[in-house]
Amino acid sequence: MSSKYALKLITKCGDCTACCTHLTIGEPLNKPAGIDCPNLINNQCSIYKDRPQCCKDFECVWFRGGVLDRSEAYRPDNLGLLFVESNKPMFKDVIGVVRVHKTISPKARRLLWSLEKKHLFILDDVLYGPQELIDKWKEMYSHG
Ligand code: SF4
Ligand code: SF4
Repeated sequence: MSSKYALKLITKCGDCTACCTHLTIGEPLNKPAGIDCPNLINNQCSIYKDRPQCCKDFECVWFRGGVLDRSEAYRPDNLGLLFVESNKPMFKDVIGVVRVHKTISPKARRLLWSLEKKHLFILDDVLYGPQELIDKWKEMYSHG
C-alpha cells in the first residue's frame, strides 16, 4: 500500500519539471529562475527521494487544482504557462504566471482571458484582472 501511495505522488506531476527550471528556488539550492536545477538530469530529479523540503512542499496552481483545469493539457509543460500562488502575504490574492514557452498559445491565451474575468494575476510584471480588483489592489498597496 505504501509503494502504491509513493507511486501516486511521483506521477502526479507526470513528465512536467517546469518549476525545476522556471522558478527561483531558495535555500539550499539558490537557483535563479530560467536555469535548470543542477539536480535535473534527463528531465528527472536525480535526488527525488532526498530533494530539499522546499521542493517537497511546492505545489503549482495546476498541481493543487481549483482555479485551473487539472487535465494534462493545462499542465505547465503542456500549456506553456506556470501558475504560482505567492507565499508573500501582501501578494496572497495574486497568481503569478511564468512563461514556460516563449510564445503564448491560443489555448493559453483563452485561459488567461477567462482568468482575467475573476482573478488578479501578474504576467511579465503587468497586473491583469477585473478592474475593481485592480483598483482595490492599487488602493491597498500603492501607498506602501
Ligand atoms: S510546475 Fe507544477 S506540475 Fe510541473 S513539476 Fe512543478 S509542481 Fe509539478
Ligand atoms: S532538487 Fe529536484 S525537485 Fe528540486 S528543483 Fe531540483 S530537480 Fe526539481
